[in-house]
Amino acid sequence: MKYDFIIVGAGIVGLSTAYSLIHKYPDSKIIIIEKEETFSKHQSGNNSNVIHSGIYYKPGSSKAINCKKGYDLLLKFLKEYNIPHEICGKLIVANSDDEINELMVLFEKGKKNGLKGLKILDSEQIKNYEPYVNGLKAIHVPQAGITDYKLVSKKIYEILKDKGVKFSFNTKVLNIKNGSGFNRVFTNCNEEIRANYIVNVAGLYSDKLAKMNFEIDYKIIPFRGEYYNLKPSASYLVKNLIYPVPDPNFPFLGVHFTRRINNSIESGPNAVFAFSREGYKMSIINFKELFESISYIGFLKLIKLYWKEGIIEMYRSFSKYAYLKSLQKLIPEIKISDISSGGAGVRAQAVKSNGEMVDDFLIISKNNIINVCNAPSPAATASFAIGEHISNLIK
Ligand SMILES: Cc1cc2nc3c(=O)[nH]c(=O)nc-3n(C[C@H](O)[C@H](O)[C@H](O)COP(=O)(O)OP(=O)(O)OC[C@H]3O[C@@H](n4cnc5c(N)ncnc54)[C@H](O)[C@@H]3O)c2cc1C
Repeated sequence: MKYDFIIVGAGIVGLSTAYSLIHKYPDSKIIIIEKEETFSKHQSGNNSNVIHSGIYYKPGSSKAINCKKGYDLLLKFLKEYNIPHEICGKLIVANSDDEINELMVLFEKGKKNGLKGLKILDSEQIKNYEPYVNGLKAIHVPQAGITDYKLVSKKIYEILKDKGVKFSFNTKVLNIKNGSGFNRVFTNCNEEIRANYIVNVAGLYSDKLAKMNFEIDYKIIPFRGEYYNLKPSASYLVKNLIYPVPDPNFPFLGVHFTRRINNSIESGPNAVFAFSREGYKMSIINFKELFESISYIGFLKLIKLYWKEGIIEMYRSFSKYAYLKSLQKLIPEIKISDISSGGAGVRAQAVKSNGEMVDDFLIISKNNIINVCNAPSPAATASFAIGEHISNLIK
């Protein structure tokens, strides 16, 4: 079997890459290989469904550039195919002098990233947007919004099927090899599939596949994000999106409140080290994967730096009261009886051997094999832009 392009992974980035390729090369033969029975079963189907504005990212970084471009492409797609979405705006709320300083850094970053209409609010003005929020200062970000990335994935899947892209579900890629003139993947179905180009967009397992075709200096460490739902009787406490000021040492945004597109409210996600790459619950342990993570020098260096934060995060994952406390920082009125356990997602976070968490998107292309090595949040918002970027890497 020979194709022009093999894409490994049918998450939203893999689907968007195929979407860009089939528009650029309408006659090309594309196959998407996915180990699950359908698309977007992992990060792309278990996230906060927020359309990010781009305020958080270092100006000029790949995240800043692709979030802005991806935001426009995503909105165009959502409108064209009538996919539910809402640009409802969000608040980032500061509650101490340190957080106010950090908030001002974000405000400047947002302006540099081209966001218009950002406003600094005082505690009285905050109440005009979110009457139950307690904060000293906040930024109102009018561009932030909500959608449903499973629906976005479904529409892209339907378009790709219509255009003749082949899907091979329930098929796990075991190996990728570079050959003379073409590249090959080997699957658990005892198949060898050949193509001119291979794109590895395997999310939580992307490092394992990348390692097969070039030397890498990072490992994917899984961080689970757990959610709590706000009971309908308490949903009046949240109008739209309410975020804390994130800790600048981490690439995560902090436990926040999100209105879903069906108007229910969820809070989360936290960021807990997961004992398995697809460890959606604390009780899911894959001993091989756990050993690989904890014996990795980069992880040990990371733990040495941030063991205190790690323990607090673990405790908050065990204790509903501890979780509630972080929510009460934003909305003091919220009670333990207002929240019930929700779902979870696992983030694929690349960590370098020096212990640094890779903050930016990282895409490496060599010998016609393109590896998406780090595509954490806001990669769902940015997916169409990342897809275009990948198709532009193809000569
Ligand atoms: C808790 C959480 C909240 C988030 N919130 C947001 C948000 O609000 N907004 C936003 O923009 N982004 C958000 N993100 C980030 C966003 O969801 C991800 O960046 C994005 O979904 C990554 O997509 P992907 O296609 O790269 O990975 P995935 O969706 O994980 O897809 C990878 C696919 O590869 C498949 N695969 C793996 N190994 C193999 C193999 N060997 N063979 C075949 N198939 C394989 C997997 O089964 C999977 O389907 C969040 C992420 C998480 C985890």
